Amino acid sequence: MTVNDIRSQTREELDAQFKLWEQPAYRVTQLLKWLYEHRATTWDAMTNLPKPLREQLARHYGLRALELVRKQGARDTTQKFLWRLHDQSLIESVLIPANPALYGDPTDRHTLCVSTQVGCAYGCKFCASGLDGWKRNLGVEEIVEQVLAVERWHAAESLKVELAPVPPDGATPVETDNAKREISSGARLINNLVIMGMGEPLANYDNLLKALRILNAPWGGGIGARKITISTSGLVPQIRKLAAEPLQFRLAVSLHGATDDVRNQIMPVNRKYPLRELTSACEDYQKKNGRMITFEYILIAGINDDLRQIKPLAELAHRLNAKVNLIPYNTVEGLSWQRPAEAVQEAFIKALVTHGVTATLRREKGHDIDAACGQLRLRTERELSDAMKS
Ligand code: SAH
Ligand code: SF4
Repeated sequence: MTVNDIRSQTREELDAQFKLWEQPAYRVTQLLKWLYEHRATTWDAMTNLPKPLREQLARHYGLRALELVRKQGARDTTQKFLWRLHDQSLIESVLIPANPALYGDPTDRHTLCVSTQVGCAYGCKFCASGLDGWKRNLGVEEIVEQVLAVERWHAAESLKVELAPVPPDGATPVETDNAKREISSGARLINNLVIMGMGEPLANYDNLLKALRILNAPWGGGIGARKITISTSGLVPQIRKLAAEPLQFRLAVSLHGATDDVRNQIMPVNRKYPLRELTSACEDYQKKNGRMITFEYILIAGINDDLRQIKPLAELAHRLNAKVNLIPYNTVEGLSWQRPAEAVQEAFIKALVTHGVTATLRREKGHDIDAACGQLRLRTERELSDAMKS
């Protein structure tokens, strides 16, 4: 009987199972290499495992790859992936390459933004993910597989580059060397993870934490805990729980307002966990974790872009040793919210900096591909349902 997908299992769990099956321990190492280095999607691909063992694994575990339904790439090469799950639900991941010109870093640094739920129950008024409510939590393997599937896609793309004809001027295509390295060594593409896709990650706490342990493990995804940022709309008990975890991830809090008045208007979660409680949990996290928290602050015209927010926002940022990420709002089909004019955005960040706050303004990447969470799924679901009607 298939109990679980194999990518939901830790090394310890696999060790225990293989022991029961009287298999030598090195077989687990071989299996893990197939899963996380070669990103295999079939048991048959695992050629150095004996056939009876492969059959036993196939009877016992699932091994299902995400199905790519749609991919969008922005001009600046941010890539957005829409995946179909086994129950036909749709989720998204976004791949954001670091801009070498910006960071002066020649190595390939890529950030992947992953989803943790189908839909979202928290219903922030401005957000596409919550528009159709919450459907279900993602399983451990569905979180892990987003990373593997994007890396698989990238390796296949690199292969295309490698096989592409040499340009007429005889120059080597730039990506060729990287492509070769990636395919032959199974090198990792993604070294930064942000848990900011669809869903409220801390509402799927156990699956998320297990997936992150697998993605962090040297035998798994190999992504450093400090390179993993969890974004939350402000679930106080879970922030406190996260603070006590042995693995110390980075925390981003979606603030979007520095007073309860503003937050209550746009984020229903604030009625359950008002700012006083949220900031106290953040303080606890910051003390235990010792790292800077990030406040995400979407700038929405006429809602939270008033300079009266600056003083309370600066106070919170100072108290919690937090930096502020200002993000101009991405318009969502069917919602009337707008981003403020650029001059207003610039005035807002200038005022924050004048108050001594470390702040950045995302001069949007990926606006043209609906980079904010949930938007590609929303559009695709609407198109599908229109197609059914016609
Ligand atoms: N539920 C979590 C993580 C997913 S949302 C959270 O709320 O933090 C990730 C981020 O995208 C949040 O900061 C969210 O407020 C922001 N976001 C949602 N819709 C957006 C939009 N239309 N434009 C810009 N940012 C948006
Ligand atoms: Fe859910 Fe985050 Fe969107 Fe709010 S912003 S509805 S918590 S996904």
